[in-house]
Amino acid sequence: MKTTIEPFRIKTVEPIRMTTRSEREALIEKANNNLFSLNSQDVLIDFLTDSGTSAMSAAQWAGILSGDESYAGSPSFHRFEAAVKKLMPFKHIIPTHQGRAAEKILFSIIGGPGKKIPNNTHFDTTRANIETTGAEAVDLVIDEGLDPASEFPFKGNLCPKKLTNFIEENMGSIPIVMVTITNNSGGGQPVSLGNLKEIRSICDRFKLPLFIDACRFAENAYFIQQREAGQEDRSIVDIVKDIFALADGMTMSAKKDALVNIGGWLAMNDDAMAMDARNVLILTEGFPTYGGLAGRDLEAIAIGLEEIVDQDYLHYRITSTAYLGDALSEMGVPIMKPVGGHAVYIDARALLPHIPHQQYPGQALALALYKIGGIRGCEIGTVMFGRQPDGSEVMAKMDLVRLAIPRRVYTQSHIDYVIECFEELMKEKDSITGVRITWEPPALRHFTAHFDSICSS
Ligand SMILES: *Cc1c(COP(=O)(O)O)cnc(C)c1O
Repeated sequence: MKTTIEPFRIKTVEPIRMTTRSEREALIEKANNNLFSLNSQDVLIDFLTDSGTSAMSAAQWAGILSGDESYAGSPSFHRFEAAVKKLMPFKHIIPTHQGRAAEKILFSIIGGPGKKIPNNTHFDTTRANIETTGAEAVDLVIDEGLDPASEFPFKGNLCPKKLTNFIEENMGSIPIVMVTITNNSGGGQPVSLGNLKEIRSICDRFKLPLFIDACRFAENAYFIQQREAGQEDRSIVDIVKDIFALADGMTMSAKKDALVNIGGWLAMNDDAMAMDARNVLILTEGFPTYGGLAGRDLEAIAIGLEEIVDQDYLHYRITSTAYLGDALSEMGVPIMKPVGGHAVYIDARALLPHIPHQQYPGQALALALYKIGGIRGCEIGTVMFGRQPDGSEVMAKMDLVRLAIPRRVYTQSHIDYVIECFEELMKEKDSITGVRITWEPPALRHFTAHFDSICSS
């Protein structure tokens, strides 16, 4: 069959408020041309992020009602712990309110001045949590992962050669090695099981612990099953278990592959490290059997973890992301390839070559998509990365617009509508103008900056 149907029926609906193009032009003007400042009810298709935006199942909502809110010893914690250990058999499972809280605890224990932590590509909260301790976050992804045109199947791999050299040059200052699956900041690209085994053996040679940033572990396992020789007949659960058997610990944002709206955890085998982590947890998050969460959240995570490793769900998830990417690619929209698990990234600099980078082609494209179709994507380019701590402005490596797809939220007809909006965009693209920043805050300007269109003269 050509059509991949959504492997679910819809029991609860959330209305989308329809808007016209002229309404949207007025709304975005009022929001100072910043998509983060829009009221989400004025967005038709919200592709801002896949984080915390999943639709929960009937079983998860039922779990919410049966959550036990006891301060200590809640059975909901034991169900959560058992569900995590079934896939990720670490000795200590420490719940947190989201992924960055797990990172904050981990790096407050093992970070500090002089320490260096390698990863394929650190996610921005991971990097920030390392750097605030005075430690250094280092990206060592394979060269293919830095080449947008490369069709290599595992562009998220950590380069074994770069890692070995890095360890030899920094002996004694590396507390852990990290691998992020899938590699979010590198376009949602997967890491192969073979690569993880190689990294494990390097860690063994130098006696270093290996931690996995596991936010999209199930999507990564599906890519392993589909693309890695010898893995095609294995179940997702078996592949997931193999991945985590190679590691000494993990950080997790349950807002991704645990299908919930809030939550996360930190896990490890080392007893002394776990004791330190729980001491920080009690100060900043809560008692060890709830972390920063309510009992009901722990129930929803436990059920989400069973649902995320379902073969039919993952087939639908990865196929539907590729469906959007392939359609855009066929009509000549330049995208990052191969299409990753959770998002399609459009190369705005290549699509709008008439807009100089000083006029933010990514922001211009994101604004045009909103005006044409009410679609909200996210600029990942010079607006986000261009301003330097010393006040100077540089061109980002790429000017991208990310369309991140929430899990189980949109149907194929929503995606077909998005594709139609791009057909319209391709007709109008030569008349899209650049933007300038009229106001910006001292840091993280993309969230609140004001923009103005630059009229073509
Ligand atoms: C989202 C994310 C995090 C941080 O998790 P939050 O729940 O947003 O705090 C860390 N690493 C990766 C790879 C992520 O995608």
